[in-house]
Amino acid sequence: MRFDVVVMGGGLAGYTCAITLLDSGLSCALMSIGQSALHFSSGSMDFLNALPNGERVYKPEAALEKLKELAPEHPYSLMGAEKTKAMALEAERLLNNWGILVSGSFTEGNHLRLSPMGKLLPTWLSQKDVFWVKGDEKPLWEWKKVSIVTVKDFLDFSPEIISAQLNDLGLQTKISSFTLPDLEILRENPSEFRSVNIARVLDKKENRPLVLAELKKATDCDALILPACLGLNHPSFISELSKELGIPVRIVPTLAPSMVGARINNHLHREFLARGGVSMPKDVATAYTFKDPDAETLTIEKIFTANHGDIPIRPRHVILATGSFFSKGLYADMGKIKEAVFELDLLDYPDQREEWTKYDFFAPQPYAGFGVKVDENMRTFKKGKLVTNLKAAGLVLGGFNPVLQGCGAGVALVTALVAAQSVLAEE
Ligand SMILES: Cc1cc2nc3c(=O)[nH]c(=O)nc-3n(C[C@H](O)[C@H](O)[C@H](O)COP(=O)(O)OP(=O)(O)OC[C@H]3O[C@@H](n4cnc5c(N)ncnc54)[C@H](O)[C@@H]3O)c2cc1C
Repeated sequence: MRFDVVVMGGGLAGYTCAITLLDSGLSCALMSIGQSALHFSSGSMDFLNALPNGERVYKPEAALEKLKELAPEHPYSLMGAEKTKAMALEAERLLNNWGILVSGSFTEGNHLRLSPMGKLLPTWLSQKDVFWVKGDEKPLWEWKKVSIVTVKDFLDFSPEIISAQLNDLGLQTKISSFTLPDLEILRENPSEFRSVNIARVLDKKENRPLVLAELKKATDCDALILPACLGLNHPSFISELSKELGIPVRIVPTLAPSMVGARINNHLHREFLARGGVSMPKDVATAYTFKDPDAETLTIEKIFTANHGDIPIRPRHVILATGSFFSKGLYADMGKIKEAVFELDLLDYPDQREEWTKYDFFAPQPYAGFGVKVDENMRTFKKGKLVTNLKAAGLVLGGFNPVLQGCGAGVALVTALVAAQSVLAEE
């Protein structure tokens, strides 16, 4: 099997890179072993919320030079401020072009999104139907009174906590709930009563008018807030409700699994297939060969996978976007951290295992910054040798802490675009 490009990893980075390369006319296969981080995320995309010293960032653009001083190995620092900015703007353009409609802008700076626990957190891009507000530390409310309407007995969303937080921030709130007959089957098993499953029921054509009728009862307010458990299979549902009700309707991510994140992943998958991408779900590389293992630089020749046995894939380029420890792109044995597929060179990390973690669960965890070493074009290295046709992108990279710095999606998107550019430059 011959492909111009094989992408490993079906998360934000893998799909972004794959779709960009397909749009440039390259043939592309994508293998992925499991759900990506998007399925557990807020669905909003962070670019840079804080510097490594903890200083809060409002305008990522203005913070890139300081980031370079403090974290020279951060992917943004490697590629430089100008390129990072260009890639951020390109990512905004592409997401909207692909039909993932997002609000927010790199040039304007971060806005605030509402977390499942009612906290306002900074972020770069939020989907259009998600609850977000302009402002840095203080929200610039457009509304005075909001109604929070939840699904009866839904445990992954707490209107009381959200209401209390919003009251503290100056908004009046009112809480109500509704149910529909079709939800009763799900309700019989509490472990099934989760956002994604509820959305599958509420999104059904025959149920949409019933949802509308229920929400009409709660419209004595300036805006409606709902848990993100509708708008999965029918993404325009929320905007249709806004139109019908005559007031803004916004969704808030629930505890994981995350419908707002999952629908981005589903959407990217559809865009990938629509462009002729070949999907290899649940497949994983089991072995690979280099063309000339003794040469000064290495070039991957064949990849063998679990599902294709002794039939090798012969890619001209490979993109590694397998994520971090969470997605099994990296793993730790007793004495070493390893990149899971090719055992690529990693950025330096402490020899002592005790230094990989901090006992305080909420302290910045050193291991979060471990990952693959790349150059400014996302090219990788093995035992010090350049691997000419293997680029890495996303959370498998090292040099940044996506939790502390709030930069996970930004890194995934911009490094994926740089990896794609790097492939295209070699074509
Ligand atoms: C729980 C959680 C919540 C997060 N929430 C946010 C958020 O709200 N906002 C934000 O900006 N960032 C968030 N992040 C950071 C997030 O990781 C990035 O935003 C981004 O989605 C990462 O994309 P990725 O493609 O690099 O990696 P992943 O999303 O981790 O995708 C990697 C994919 O590769 C697959 N894979 C792994 N190994 C192999 C293999 N050997 N072969 C084939 N496939 C493989 C995995 O199954 C997975 O599908 C969160 C991260 C986590 C872990």
